[in-house]
Amino acid sequence: MGKHFDGRLPQRDGAEAMTQQNYDVLLINGQWQQSNSREPLQVISPSTENVIGTVPNGDSKDVESAVAAARRSFDTGPWRKHSIEQRAAILERALDLLEGQIEDVADLVSSEMGLPTSVSRKKTPGAIWAGRYFLETALAEETVDVRKTLWGPAAVIKEPVGVVASIAPWNSPFNMAISKIFPALVTGCSVVYKPSPDTPLDAYIIAKALVGAGLPEGVFNLVTGDADTGRWLVEHPDVDKVSFTGSTGAGRQIAASAGQRFARLQLELGGKSAAIVLDDADPAKTLQGIIAGSFANSGQVCSAYSRILVPSASTSTWTDVVVAAGKSFRVGDPFDPLTTMGPLVSRVQRDRVLGYIQAGLSEGAHLALGGGIPTGLDKGFYVEPTVFTGATNAMRISREEIFGPVVTVMPYDSLDEAIDIANDSDYGLHGAVFTEDPERALYVARSVRSGTFSINSYTHNVQAPFGGVKDSGIGREMAAEGINAYYELKTINLTDATFGALTN
Ligand code: NAD
Repeated sequence: MGKHFDGRLPQRDGAEAMTQQNYDVLLINGQWQQSNSREPLQVISPSTENVIGTVPNGDSKDVESAVAAARRSFDTGPWRKHSIEQRAAILERALDLLEGQIEDVADLVSSEMGLPTSVSRKKTPGAIWAGRYFLETALAEETVDVRKTLWGPAAVIKEPVGVVASIAPWNSPFNMAISKIFPALVTGCSVVYKPSPDTPLDAYIIAKALVGAGLPEGVFNLVTGDADTGRWLVEHPDVDKVSFTGSTGAGRQIAASAGQRFARLQLELGGKSAAIVLDDADPAKTLQGIIAGSFANSGQVCSAYSRILVPSASTSTWTDVVVAAGKSFRVGDPFDPLTTMGPLVSRVQRDRVLGYIQAGLSEGAHLALGGGIPTGLDKGFYVEPTVFTGATNAMRISREEIFGPVVTVMPYDSLDEAIDIANDSDYGLHGAVFTEDPERALYVARSVRSGTFSINSYTHNVQAPFGGVKDSGIGREMAAEGINAYYELKTINLTDATFGALTN
């Protein structure tokens, strides 16, 4: 029998950080239920390579039960009939419960995916703040738009989209879970959530908090599992919307599947963002922007600046700045308080990143920094901060998402050439310009095709819409736009009497 939660995490145990966490249950219809059949998934610590937990690998019957519970709760349960204030109050209670154990959650994130505790203990509380912000935003967005039209009075109302299949990657497990689950729930949707098989443990803590806060049964369901579990979920005819964050390849399959029945889609996919450094850029701001934008989270960030475009007349000066950004990190044990860069999430991801470094070398690029496994860190999935020069934008390291601490510095001769290189990409998620000239900054910001853009910084802003163009996805998360993505609009053509009833 799996662990049944009392709301607290197991005690930390020295360097291993968390004691073993084995779960053989899924949250379905408000009950912790045994999974049906498949071999459990092992959760591996990326720093010690030890197994730190197991979770069910949800099968098609588990998915069937979870979607059926969500469907029932949406169609006949009380959740969407509650006022938004009632829903927000229950979700606020869940955030309070999570806040009470936030340091342990931060350490769990460090155990699962290797983010240094020096970062996770600062970042994880931000998820609680963001959760409360989403609830406040949803309350402010709960409007009925009553208009007078040539066809008579009309009301445009918002209705929850229905059963949401929400699927996440591993690179920011807790914070991303909050920003996928809370906007969906507060609008009145029912959710089946599937975390990444690499980082499934913290989703149990969120599920427990939601149950403890009094969420009605079936409104939130947790099904852990692999890509097949995700596929069964996406293909289920009773899922009204798929909210997916992950790779572009998986996003393409999901879009094809959802398109068969016009399921609503939100796809937050990969990126290959360019930071354009202009000749008047402030070196200190540029250094900080590249530290945060290119190497933080070991480069496992969808909106990372993985291409740095610099004026050809000063290539070596700016390469030095990028190299200094890479060298500023102390790579090592995530539980050492001095560590600022941990390992990559898994052996598969580490080998993928090392494969890209080999591809860069064999295509003729040069290493200005790193390129291998850091000395003394053979155990764990570590990769050195790595900087390539001498690359072209045609090379695989410039075109494909590496998702590791690897950046390419490329020279340009004119501003328009820099913009062309930035736009010569299948992706369009983020981008940056570093300059002290506001006019050129805004010109570049408007000229780069991307969903978000930062000037003299790397900024991930949850109070503004976030998402991509081109192969980086469809739709927007965060802020009011992200809340409204969980509503369908309904127009009610009114009579004078119903118009009066609505407006008085
Ligand atoms: P992934 O696509 O392999 O997996 C993401 C999730 O989808 C996992 O839970 C996985 O089990 C599931 N999955 C995989 N294939 C599926 C399918 N065909 N149908 C349904 N579910 C499926 O991605 P990953 O390796 O876990 O994460 C890294 C990727 O995520 C990178 O490409 C990164 O850019 C992207 N990402 C995007 C954003 C964003 O907001 N745009 C944020 C973070 C990460």
